[in-house]
Amino acid sequence: MFEVINTSEYARTGLLKLRHGSIQTPAFMPVGTNGTVKSLTNDDLIETGAEIILGNTYHLMLRPGDELIKELGGLNNFINWSKPILTDSGGFQVWSLGDLVKITEEGVSFKSPYDGRNIFIRPEDSIQIQQNLDSDIIMVFDECTNYPATHEEAKSSMELSMRWAKRCKDFHTSDGKLFGIVQGGMYKDLRSSSLEKLNDIGFDGIAIGGLSVGESKEEKTEILEHLAPELPQNLPHYLMGVGKPEDIVEGVRYGIDMFDCVIPTRNARNGQLFTSEGVVNIRNAEHKKSTLPIDPNCKCKVCKNYSRAYLNHLDRTNEILGSMLSSYHNIFYYQSLMQDIRDSIKNNKFANFVKDFYNMRDLEMPKGPV
Ligand SMILES: [Zn+2]
Repeated sequence: MFEVINTSEYARTGLLKLRHGSIQTPAFMPVGTNGTVKSLTNDDLIETGAEIILGNTYHLMLRPGDELIKELGGLNNFINWSKPILTDSGGFQVWSLGDLVKITEEGVSFKSPYDGRNIFIRPEDSIQIQQNLDSDIIMVFDECTNYPATHEEAKSSMELSMRWAKRCKDFHTSDGKLFGIVQGGMYKDLRSSSLEKLNDIGFDGIAIGGLSVGESKEEKTEILEHLAPELPQNLPHYLMGVGKPEDIVEGVRYGIDMFDCVIPTRNARNGQLFTSEGVVNIRNAEHKKSTLPIDPNCKCKVCKNYSRAYLNHLDRTNEILGSMLSSYHNIFYYQSLMQDIRDSIKNNKFANFVKDFYNMRDLEMPKGPV
């Protein structure tokens, strides 16, 4: 199902075979929260090079409901997307509701933010919902450990997640792949023990969860560095909810194969555009008369056809087209970044790629494997 093709220290390229097609890794998965990657059509997404998107179980089960989506032929059919889909388990979104959630051994209960009704989700329910959506990759239902947490808190939270992971595995029956999620907060011993438990249960892929929750960059790097040699080489590694371009480059250095994040689309709607030379804030007055494209090195149709001045105008007038063009460019940028990463690993030039990546952005290159 997963084949590693080229390696450069921990970094690797691979091919992940799924029911709706194969994806090249390292891969970036645009986030389609409500069954749509905001302001982009599926044709747009395919043009950018996206081979897989993410759907949010939590949002889709509340609206329009997973039963309805099942009745309409599954999520691929419903949204007319023919390539693979990964769904998250809903655990992270529920956790984000904070005090409104009650967690017990059996599962979590909370009130729907839409109509106030009480909802109870057990790990088995999350798997059933993802099977109703007919996902290519199903994530186990877990508890995201609070940050900060004491060792004792992080341990008991991780152990609950591991018991839930076993229940998910026992319940799972679809031919979608099932990924386990490493938890354990910022504690290396807990991360190792979580990974060991997941390996014992047996999953099709390993995700790293519980990062990007408020920790420092150093703490995050330490966890990646610690886990890199321990991750099973024959399985895909997925770093959940990450991140900015530099976080992706760092993740690949530590052996990560899959990423997802709302940053390229959310930031696009706020005027933040990613380029080969760093971030351009299109709202700034300096772009008001600029005939330059967003990024002279970008081959996307927005950079080919539109000036910064026009995008600045669209942003200031709150035009929908502004969000569409900016999101298109940002997702194209992310997909090109992944392509460049894959090419450099394949051509044995990943170390040069990483050095150039930081040089072009005037950033200091962090220590670490290349
Ligand atoms: Zn562009």
